[in-house]
Amino acid sequence: MHPEQSSYFRRFESLCHPKSVFALKRPLVLIYLVDGARPDVMRELVDSGDLPNIRREIVEPGTFRIATSCFPSTTGPAYLPFLTGCFPGTINIPGIRWLDKAAYHRKRWARESFRSYCGYEAAYFNADIPKERPTLHELFDRPFNIFSMITRGVPQGHDLTARVKSGLYLRAHLRHKWEPVDHASHQHLMLGLDQDPEFIFAVFPGVDAYSHLNHPRHEEVLTAYRFVDFSVGQVVEKLKRLGRWDDTLLLLTSDHGLSATHRHFDLALFLQKRGMKTLFYPLVWKKNPAASVMISGNAMGHVYCLNGKSGAALQGEELPRALNSVWEELLQREEVDFVAWRGNGQSYEIAASRGRATIIRHPQGLTYHPRTGDPFGLGELAAPMNLQEALAATFHSEYPDALVQIEQLFACSRAGDLAVSAKVGYDLREAYEWPEHHSSHGSLHREHMMVPLLYNQTGWDERPARTTDVFNTVLKWSGKPTLENTDGQSLC
Ligand SMILES: [Zn+2]
Repeated sequence: MHPEQSSYFRRFESLCHPKSVFALKRPLVLIYLVDGARPDVMRELVDSGDLPNIRREIVEPGTFRIATSCFPSTTGPAYLPFLTGCFPGTINIPGIRWLDKAAYHRKRWARESFRSYCGYEAAYFNADIPKERPTLHELFDRPFNIFSMITRGVPQGHDLTARVKSGLYLRAHLRHKWEPVDHASHQHLMLGLDQDPEFIFAVFPGVDAYSHLNHPRHEEVLTAYRFVDFSVGQVVEKLKRLGRWDDTLLLLTSDHGLSATHRHFDLALFLQKRGMKTLFYPLVWKKNPAASVMISGNAMGHVYCLNGKSGAALQGEELPRALNSVWEELLQREEVDFVAWRGNGQSYEIAASRGRATIIRHPQGLTYHPRTGDPFGLGELAAPMNLQEALAATFHSEYPDALVQIEQLFACSRAGDLAVSAKVGYDLREAYEWPEHHSSHGSLHREHMMVPLLYNQTGWDERPARTTDVFNTVLKWSGKPTLENTDGQSLC
């Protein structure tokens, strides 16, 4: 046989060999973002046999673990860790609503002065992500999106629900019926599998929406979990039929937990009634406001003091002074869990009715020092901790990842002078909120911060995980280079 012929034959043979067919296949990463899914509810439903497909296809051959989300633990900003590997503060999107104090001081009502992604300004979300922070959609060749607002890098035609989203969401919001949205998510996911996907980010909003309307364990919420399970069953069956399942990483996770809300405390009206003219959504076109309140997930709020001469953030004791008589009253409110703000130099102050503490940034890491009390219940943590050590030291506490989360939030120039975190059972927004929220999230409490992290793989690093770790994990698992300049590290 001629040498060329033989090499041609070998090539042809290798193309037909089962091993090479395998090599020709492209790995697929599929992320099920079950918005608002709580790890404990998910665990109970898996154990009770209510989620048989998730159990059989993901948990039994793979892993069920928990991870920390970010502060504020709220939809939108809390999708950023998965899709950019960064905390919301790193991306300069510190909440679902924010004000940029410096921009507001300079220009008042300019486009970059304030934002609410709950309304028409949601369209700015992609442009607000800094250009130098690529999304997973920009790093995969054939990415697809279903219902996420982060679509930067999604090619034309690959945002599978782009045309139906606003209509479906509006109808669901008005009728309090979210099944059609979850069903559409599943249908588009099934259709997306026919388009040779490499990466799919699919949002199922039913668990979150029904939790807000009821409570996190309401029958309608559990039905929404069961629908996700039905979807997983259908999707895995189809991937097996297509011969792609063995090369699929299926991750099922959430952006935040949720807790039942028994009472609302309107933080903006609280300041307003005490003589501080307050700018808040939707009433943002006020002249000469003294303060602004921007609420996220309803259990977290940024407070901006606006009557200073410059747009600079207040630090240290400037803040209690600026809020004057309101300060003590705010701390003593039963709805307020704690407040946090920038200290002098590289430090952060935490205050609650149960006392004050300080977080200090040293060159070697973060430390935590109770002063007149221990608002996070962590005790003295005097040895500087790196990102991973600071997570490990707080992972099982009531405030998981508190040190790193406070720092990332205030690293952001758009974060408030003060961040207010509500106690579990309460939230911080009542006026202009329809329908009434019967569940909330957004706070730094573990009820809102812990999310399930399920995947059909084993043997990954068992250290405490953050949702920011998912980004580099997905890249590494797919054989792509990981990015160093993020807030997470690969788990695989
Ligand atoms: Zn959410």
